[in-house]
Amino acid sequence: MTPALEIHEEDDEWRTAQRQFDEAAELIGLEPDLREILREVQREFTCHFPVLMDDGRIEIFTGYRVQHNINRGPAKGGIRYHPAVSLDEVKALAMWMTWKCAVVNIPYGGAKGGVIVDPRKLTQRELEHMTRRFATEIAILVGPDRDIPAPDVNTDAQVMAWIMDTLSMHHGYSVTASVTGKPVEVGGSLGRVDATGRGVMICTLAALEHLGVKPHAARVAVQGFGNVGSVSARLLEEAGCTIVSVSDEFGGLYNPLGLPVKRLIEHRRQHGRLEGFPGAEETSSTGPLTADCDVLVPAAIGNQLTSRNAGQVKARLVVEGANGPTTPEADRILRDGGVFLVPDILANAGGVTVSYFEWVQDLQSFFWSEHEVNQKLGAIMHRAFREVLTVATERDLPMRMAAYVQAVSRVAAATRDRGIYP
Ligand code: NAD
Repeated sequence: MTPALEIHEEDDEWRTAQRQFDEAAELIGLEPDLREILREVQREFTCHFPVLMDDGRIEIFTGYRVQHNINRGPAKGGIRYHPAVSLDEVKALAMWMTWKCAVVNIPYGGAKGGVIVDPRKLTQRELEHMTRRFATEIAILVGPDRDIPAPDVNTDAQVMAWIMDTLSMHHGYSVTASVTGKPVEVGGSLGRVDATGRGVMICTLAALEHLGVKPHAARVAVQGFGNVGSVSARLLEEAGCTIVSVSDEFGGLYNPLGLPVKRLIEHRRQHGRLEGFPGAEETSSTGPLTADCDVLVPAAIGNQLTSRNAGQVKARLVVEGANGPTTPEADRILRDGGVFLVPDILANAGGVTVSYFEWVQDLQSFFWSEHEVNQKLGAIMHRAFREVLTVATERDLPMRMAAYVQAVSRVAAATRDRGIYP
């Protein structure tokens, strides 16, 4: 096998997702039929659709929607816009959504969607046209009781509002519960924007407590400064941690004495990037991964911690804000190095949990205060962390496998209860 092929295989997220599942299935002695069912996705949908560009040209875009499993409830999962989106990546992300919803025990299956596009190359008008055409394509799959999209990389509340509006136009009335992560004015939930970062913060503090480290003694590095990264950094700073390193796709910053997160957010808002922030050493996009710190929060994209750099990680706690940031090879290196890792399917589950709250509120047309949302989120995240830690301790497993054991057991039980031989 050539080294290039080796690297390619390590970076294959679908292969990673299936390997993680296989390990968990082995651990719980899952029957062969259920293994076959759960290691594949149930539905995968590819579409190629035309979009009218501002200069009068028609451009064809490719998009995907994948549902991995719907035995515990309707499919749920974000939509990402990124040039590197592929069917295999979306399949992996859909499978991870199934496990994530099961870890926090909310009544959903897993789904994911994406469009191959660099949204920064589109005007706002083109972005809206593309979103509405994609929403029309996936309309045959999505809906409040079937499959409920949400924001992910490069999609936000505005994109969700366009999707909800387009789906509603098909029905002739507003179907707010068809999408989550919407603006509050059109059925969004208070607390949704901060939810994933809040969940990351809760898991980080719970893990620090488990490790006997006070938040004030924790130096934190965060890769990615979008929704998840910036909110995680802000809330961890508020909890007393020192943020020593951050990055976005354009570069990174490091200051051992601490970086003021609110000013970083303001700088990024003004300049569109972190680069140029005064009073910090400029590093690279991957700078935080190997920075001198106690806690690392990868919150950018997948495959960031690999066999090539995992040995250089200085943090003793890794909390996965992003989906799939660590390859199985890196996972093993971190584990051998004594790093405590809170896996993505637990650490970033705060987002889907508040998406669940949003869906419940939309279905009831009865809305909760932000305090109520945060309180309910805190209760679910603390319970899930405790449950996974208990499995990890009792079965002497790393947190990732403990979370998988918990999640796969729940999904397998639901699949078994419903009957797998109709
Ligand atoms: P986002 O688009 O808001 O932000 C992504 C950030 O990552 C940006 O700051 C971007 O500049 C940075 N980035 C991109 N490529 C990078 C690179 N190579 N190196 C360093 N930084 C890079 O996206 P988001 O919603 O914050 O999502 C981030 C991750 O969290 C993704 O893996 C996503 O699947 C996961 N996630 C998001 C949510 C959510 O609610 N938004 C929920 C669960 C998981």
